Amino acid sequence: MKIARVALDVPLDQAFDFAVPEGLDPPRGSLVVVPFGRSSRVGVVVARPGRTEVPAERLREIARLVEDVAPLAERDFELLEFCASYYQRPLGETLHASLPPRLRQASRRAIKSPGAAETSRGPFASPVETTAEQSAAIERVGEGFGRFHPVLLAGITGSGKTEVYLRLIAQALERGLQALYLVPEIGLTPQLEERVRGRFPGVAIVAAHSHLGEGERAQAWLAAQSGRARIVLGTRLAALSPMPQLGLIVVDEEHDPSYKQHEGLRYSARDVAVRRAQMAGIPVVLGSATPSLESWANAKQGRYALAELRERAFASASLPAVRTVDTRADKPVDGVSDALLRALKARLARGEQSLVFLNRRGFSPVLFCRSCAWHSTCSRCSANLVLHLKAGELRCHHCGHRERVPARCPGCGSADLAPVGQGTQRIEETLARGLPGARIARVDRDTTARKGALADVLGQVRDEKIDILVGTQMLAKGHDYPRLTLVGVIDSDCALYSVDFRAAERLFALLTQVAGRAGRAGEPGEVLIQTDFPTHPLYAAVAAHDYAAFADAALEERRIARFPPFAHIALLRAESKHAGEAAAFLRSAAKLARAAGGKVEVFDPVPAPLERKAGFDRAQLLVRAASRAALQPFLRRWREALLEKDDRRVRWSLDVDPQEA
Ligand code: ADP
Ligand code: ZN
Ligand code: ZN
Repeated sequence: MKIARVALDVPLDQAFDFAVPEGLDPPRGSLVVVPFGRSSRVGVVVARPGRTEVPAERLREIARLVEDVAPLAERDFELLEFCASYYQRPLGETLHASLPPRLRQASRRAIKSPGAAETSRGPFASPVETTAEQSAAIERVGEGFGRFHPVLLAGITGSGKTEVYLRLIAQALERGLQALYLVPEIGLTPQLEERVRGRFPGVAIVAAHSHLGEGERAQAWLAAQSGRARIVLGTRLAALSPMPQLGLIVVDEEHDPSYKQHEGLRYSARDVAVRRAQMAGIPVVLGSATPSLESWANAKQGRYALAELRERAFASASLPAVRTVDTRADKPVDGVSDALLRALKARLARGEQSLVFLNRRGFSPVLFCRSCAWHSTCSRCSANLVLHLKAGELRCHHCGHRERVPARCPGCGSADLAPVGQGTQRIEETLARGLPGARIARVDRDTTARKGALADVLGQVRDEKIDILVGTQMLAKGHDYPRLTLVGVIDSDCALYSVDFRAAERLFALLTQVAGRAGRAGEPGEVLIQTDFPTHPLYAAVAAHDYAAFADAALEERRIARFPPFAHIALLRAESKHAGEAAAFLRSAAKLARAAGGKVEVFDPVPAPLERKAGFDRAQLLVRAASRAALQPFLRRWREALLEKDDRRVRWSLDVDPQEA
């Protein structure tokens, strides 16, 4: 009897053996429909063992082969095996996470194959001459076709990184290879897709992102897998698209945290892309104006080649002048300082556009003294105490220390203590009051919930029907508005004192990106940052447009604190509806971790940054090792021990290389 071992989308590590019916011989990677309980499911054949432990009377038969989907190629299969193993998830779940939802359905209509339609192999013309720096960067990457060649493209905003990517993609196509082009934000893909299609006429290009309909997604996946699609352009999930002739990977905005998936298979699409390039023996370009410290360190240590673009591509486009507004002297009224209001008025009078940017990315509030800049820190950790307003306490999220909120500043005795916090809506109202007649649009998660809403607003900005845009990090990158000359930044101080060790890196990246919106085409740009700390070195580095200085100083801090990239970390997260159980689970998990041995440092359990969510108490436990080689086998042993505990009152998950720790 022939046997097939089949992985199903279940939260279990094991695969299931089935008998193979007469006439079928599905190789590893085949999709099959199998009976499961009383229903049927799609599964993936992971092995063809010679025998099975399942007794003959309990062995069920494969119902049928999924005929309109070719088996996963061995190389794509191995990439998914790597993901499952590295991110500590069951293989079945990982395989299924990589498949479009339509292909996971046991009963569906057959998908029509559009046939092999002929694709252009160029040559492809470019509308611009490359600058000397761009040419050098293209050469630096292009010399690595046909071998593993990771390159960090560190190029300031407006330096023309996209032109570099497009020229390299043209080279890949001309060599008869497929190219994978990853971007972080869904909102940016339609604009970019248009540009890429215009650049490569006669080439089959597919977009792959979560806003596509199920049918479109399945078509895109199949086109990539068959090799018909020559370019796959997409977000995080596109990193796992099967591509038999893959010859080049581009990861734009490689520092962007949205490359990390936050549930299920918690993979980093950027890291997977590099690993994939290594397995396939091809070049991978990681591009950014503000590279992640991990990638910057890799480039400095020679593991990645480095290509730099230090000038804007337009000779006339200079970098904006960045200034701080001292909000201790110029006290904002309802969030907006007098200096910012005056600058906005001047733009309105000249018919130019402005962007008012709020940084509200999940930072925990820290208590500040507005007189002497004292802020609440933990005496036992190099960390800030987080304000828990309801409980009236300051708490350390690293060691658990807590104390009452002081009535007066312990530094100077002033009673002017305050957390910071402004909403986009409130700023929009303030501006409407202060600038009557101005056409203001707000862009945040609320106003862009509807599909196409963001594109509508951005179209209106482009058509100059809007004077002032108010919004959050959605506006920070990618958009290019010739008439936009002023960027105001509100409320970024809290990130200076966040408990998250990546907060400063994120803030630098965000401010650089958002500043990059101003003065893209000839008109000089200005950036005003409202702050209580006008002399803070981070703002000075943003103003000097000096990423390298910032990154080198930040890396030195990471080295001393032994945080990534100088160590490798994983986070065990637990949550429970029963008070105290998440923490209790983590305490015993910490014991197991210490017993599991290895050269791994086990921290103490602490509350999650968001301590309570949807009725669940949440806590987390950090483990740290000097190398991946030390961390990985430990995680495998630890996870097995945790699975054995099988505590049903607690939900837990492991996050390898967490982005929020
Ligand atoms: P980045 O992604 O590095 O911020 P972009 O790729 O958006 O920069 O390029 C900024 C602007 O410069 C775009 O309008 C682009 O069309 C233009 N550009 C890029 N390269 C050149 C070039 N070689 N000559 C003229 N304009 C260019
Ligand atoms: Zn004080
Ligand atoms: Zn502490």
